[in-house]
Amino acid sequence: MIRGYQAEFEDKSTSRDCEGQLEDETPWTRSVIARIRQERAVLLVALLTALIALAAGANKWAVLGLLTVMVATALWHAPPVVREERQEPVPEVVDISRSRLGEVSATLAALDIPVMVLSGDASLLYQNRAAEKAFGEAAIGAHISARLRSPGILDMIGETIATNAPNQIEHSERLPSERVYIVRSAPVELDGQQPTDERFFLLSFRDISEVRRIDRMRSDFVANASHELRTPLASLRGFIETIQGPARNDAKAQERFLGIMLDQTTRMSRLVDDLLSLSRLELKSHIAPDEKVDLVPLLGHVRDSLVPLANDVGVEIALHLPEGKAEVLGDRDELVQVFENLMENACKYGQEGKTVDVFLKNVSGEPVEVTVVDKGPGIPAEHVPRLTERFYRVSIEDSRSKKGTGLGLAIVKHILTRHRARLIVKSEVGKGTSFTVRF
Ligand code: ADP
Repeated sequence: MIRGYQAEFEDKSTSRDCEGQLEDETPWTRSVIARIRQERAVLLVALLTALIALAAGANKWAVLGLLTVMVATALWHAPPVVREERQEPVPEVVDISRSRLGEVSATLAALDIPVMVLSGDASLLYQNRAAEKAFGEAAIGAHISARLRSPGILDMIGETIATNAPNQIEHSERLPSERVYIVRSAPVELDGQQPTDERFFLLSFRDISEVRRIDRMRSDFVANASHELRTPLASLRGFIETIQGPARNDAKAQERFLGIMLDQTTRMSRLVDDLLSLSRLELKSHIAPDEKVDLVPLLGHVRDSLVPLANDVGVEIALHLPEGKAEVLGDRDELVQVFENLMENACKYGQEGKTVDVFLKNVSGEPVEVTVVDKGPGIPAEHVPRLTERFYRVSIEDSRSKKGTGLGLAIVKHILTRHRARLIVKSEVGKGTSFTVRF
């Protein structure tokens, strides 16, 4: 239920009237009058008794004395009159779902962005479920500063209340996780006939953390790609200058330098190919492939194409395939690229394990799985979640020396996302690594 505080001013005026009446009399007179009123029956009986005694001829001084004693005793024993205390007006908690605000609060409850409604004195009247989820529960009726500590937001709210004009600022929070919000305060215009003590203000929080993260990723990507291209380009330039200058007449040095230059240009074209692959994949990421691909011959073909590389590094690739076919919906060329990358990495980085095992699991009723296992040095746990980021490498030197671009697993992840498949990485330092593709 939506609750808030209202009607405070009506209570105050009632209590002020009451206080005005009491102030005309002193406390002592008020007390005596109240006691006489309270003991009036006893006093009447005493008076009648005195009159009868006088009529019967009793001594008038004795009767007067007796009457005085009776009056004094009656008043003395009367219970003290409880003085009326001025009561502080207790703000009445009203159900704002019945007020004007209730008309919009039901809609606010359904919104998936955090919103809060404030009164004209910046007290929190309402917060929706999204706000409760993002910032926790809040004391309804308390000033907003008890809820939000940011001086920027509080100043903005003050300005909106003072000017009745909308404002917005960017606000970032570090805990519990880094988040960036566009916080906006605006007056709620119900129908232009609101009483001044029923002004409402809406505070909304638009989460732009994801947009910022993607922006950062894009600029990091451009910076990384330029850096990766600049390194071989700088080396090419250096060799060209050497060949034109000091090594102009040194045929042996020229031949050696030309060999390095060829390596560098090959590296650059690998990088450009990978970058183009990634951008092509991004373009069609929302279209799921629908070709039937049998993984049994496909894995055999990939293994065969990698035999020269495996021989170079002294590794044997062993295939463990089931009987019959293992069909999945996919794009053949892209799946070749996935398994080439995984088997090539297993050979390069798991070289010292000497064998790479590839298991294809095709059990009816279960997802088709391909697992590439090496017995290499493994990957420390902190790196595993980041392996599919573009240009992320456990060791840049190691990757460069093995002709890596840092884009292989990013491409694998993109292809698998398009295939609605998952990549599961398990690694134990000193024992090896397994990459499983689950369709
Ligand atoms: P690269 O072109 O550098 O090989 P990848 O995206 O294919 O880029 O791989 C990213 C990083 O993940 C590699 O640089 C390497 O540090 C690590 N890596 C990938 N596969 C393995 C593996 N089988 N064993 C150990 N490390 C691996």
